[in-house]
Amino acid sequence: MDARIAARRLRVNGIVQGVGFRPFVYQLALRHGLKGEVGNTSEGVLIDIEGDPEQLEAFEAELVAHTPPLARITELRASDREPRGLQTFRIVESRHGASMQTLIPPDVAVCGDCLAELFDPADRRFRYPFINCTHCGPRYTIIADIPYDRPKTSMRDFAMCAACRAEYENPADRRFHAQPNACPVCGPRLELRDAAGERLEASDPIAAAAARLRQGAIVAVKGLGGFHLAVDARNARAVARLRERKHREEKPLAVMSPDLAAVGTYAFVDEAEARLLSRPERPIVLLRKRPESPLAPGISPRNRRVGAFLPYTPLHHLLLAEGFPALVMTSGNRSEEPIAAGNEEALARLSGIADVFLLHDREILRRCDDSVVQRVAGKTRLLRRARGYVPQPVFLSRRLPALLAVGAELKNTVCLVKGDRAFLSPHIGDLENLATYEVFCETIAHLERVLDIRPEILACDLHPDYLSTRWAEEQPEGVLRRVQHHHAHVAACMAEHRLEGPVIGIACDGTGYGPDGTVWGGEVLAADAAGFERLAHLACVPMPGGAAAIREPWRMAVSHLQAAFGAEWSRLELAFLRETGEEKLRTVAALAASGINAPLTSSLGRLFDAVAAIVGLRRRVAFEGQAAMELEMEAAEGVAEAYETEWEEGSPRRILPGPILRGVVADVIRGRPVCEISARFHNGLVRVFVRLCRRLREERGLSRVVLSGGVFQNARLLEDLSRGLAAAGFAVYSHAQVPTNDGGIALGQALVAASAA
Ligand code: ZN
Ligand code: ZN
Ligand code: FE
Repeated sequence: MDARIAARRLRVNGIVQGVGFRPFVYQLALRHGLKGEVGNTSEGVLIDIEGDPEQLEAFEAELVAHTPPLARITELRASDREPRGLQTFRIVESRHGASMQTLIPPDVAVCGDCLAELFDPADRRFRYPFINCTHCGPRYTIIADIPYDRPKTSMRDFAMCAACRAEYENPADRRFHAQPNACPVCGPRLELRDAAGERLEASDPIAAAAARLRQGAIVAVKGLGGFHLAVDARNARAVARLRERKHREEKPLAVMSPDLAAVGTYAFVDEAEARLLSRPERPIVLLRKRPESPLAPGISPRNRRVGAFLPYTPLHHLLLAEGFPALVMTSGNRSEEPIAAGNEEALARLSGIADVFLLHDREILRRCDDSVVQRVAGKTRLLRRARGYVPQPVFLSRRLPALLAVGAELKNTVCLVKGDRAFLSPHIGDLENLATYEVFCETIAHLERVLDIRPEILACDLHPDYLSTRWAEEQPEGVLRRVQHHHAHVAACMAEHRLEGPVIGIACDGTGYGPDGTVWGGEVLAADAAGFERLAHLACVPMPGGAAAIREPWRMAVSHLQAAFGAEWSRLELAFLRETGEEKLRTVAALAASGINAPLTSSLGRLFDAVAAIVGLRRRVAFEGQAAMELEMEAAEGVAEAYETEWEEGSPRRILPGPILRGVVADVIRGRPVCEISARFHNGLVRVFVRLCRRLREERGLSRVVLSGGVFQNARLLEDLSRGLAAAGFAVYSHAQVPTNDGGIALGQALVAASAA
């Protein structure tokens, strides 16, 4: 045999199936004149390759450097072997069960090549709304079971025509083994229905839907992971009608634009944000609104930001190409319900909202909302993790037993763990809603099936009344472990950064069940994966009326004022007190004092609410965290002053809100602008946490600080506290791969449950 022949065996793991990985290997081998074979095995993709040693080396380098856009290599093991004198390079068929270990890819945006064909009149898929290839298109949302082959997807209903089959079977083709491959002859089709669900004849349903949008109609559009409700974003009346019919009063609506230039007319887009908008995941990106925005003001009222995204299905591209610089594209649901996914379901649930339905017959098997991200402190932060990101795993620092963590109650997600991979489900929503609870149950069943995981351990929140907790308690199998809410928040961040602890964990949050019977949410913990110690917390005040105090921040204001000023509070010269009215004030103050239906809370989220009410921003909210968000938006740049902060020694230490409240009230009475008060408030919090961490470092030798909890969606607080702690010499960790809110908590539950003895 030629002395200049070398042979290698490569095992590749990661997202390497259904993403054009084998054809990529095939073509790479041909280009380097190498022989051998590539195939899927139960331990990933196996490549046997031989030929000229230099070519072989180049092949390996390119394999890693130029992987197809959707592929992700997490492990590559190579070993030398004896050359076999092979004459060709070929793709070998998957053996049964071979796909079990490989990962299911997420749904991603239509690629550049497909887009070029979409708008090429000479192409056989010209204007075909379901064009895709191995580099793009639906995946997670159309997969019923594994292995990922066409009969196990919603494409099973469509038999490929001869032309499509030829592409599918040709290893040199971009559509080799592209399971959703289709064309106008053999694939899914669009159809238009009126508000009553009657079929509308339209030779071009997209043009017809666009015409209705131009007239101000609300159009339900079937997307990748569910329906959107679309209206022309420049039409204020259409936007108002959409809000009214959807019962969505103030939550911002997302806007889709054909390209970056169009986004730039209503939002500031820096380079990183432009890249983020253009990524194949196509998340909704929260951007700073331009003051001279041509969009209807009702899209994100009283908000400095606007959520924008670029088209990700060929259908979106065709629709926006009808001449819309921006369309509102909001989840197709009534407030708080899960996003509608099936045609019949959408016709029923969106009836009374949509004027027209743009449907198609490719079934959505898994619901998946749009993901929402923002850039803070130089990093991309996920606020809602779903389409485009799911089901990519978080890679853990060690292997854990098979496990299911069921998350919290609001913004629920669940997490399945297998080995060193943690799979967080898409955003499910608020479980209080029955329809959402059903999606929760379906999601668990589906993920267990497609990931082939039978959990030995179940993890849930300590809260006995969360529906997720109840569900876990009802399961016949698996050891149940209950995890404290804020320990789980901190652990989620540790899992993301592969930290084992101990760390200082600062959990700033809205609500979480405390083992002492109070509602936690302003916590400083010493934590590792197995346990935690509560080192400090915000001093407790009553939440008069319980959940009502979340909906009505003025109640928290009364509670905090009472704690800070004693009996004097009712005589303070504050506008919000006058506006609330004496009788209500007296009732709520009595409620707070009585302790009945007024649980004690150390929540920082509620302190934000109280301050927002005191400065006059709002007395009630349409969604949780709204008042806190508006207070953040107000914060002025370049203010150095801070409200005085102190803590009371003890175990745990108690951070006292009193001095902060007295500072805020004095400034309100003095007429200091809200933007300065907000800045001083943020600065005060940053200082007290930094000081406390310094003290804890002296006492405990801990120099790593983990920041987690819903309050850290506040970009100002996250940025300033991170900077402050870093300047004090701490290593600071915050969330990037999973949400800092309760959408990330299942990951932390998983780590804690697996580590607890
Ligand atoms: Zn493509
Ligand atoms: Zn075809
Ligand atoms: Fe939380």
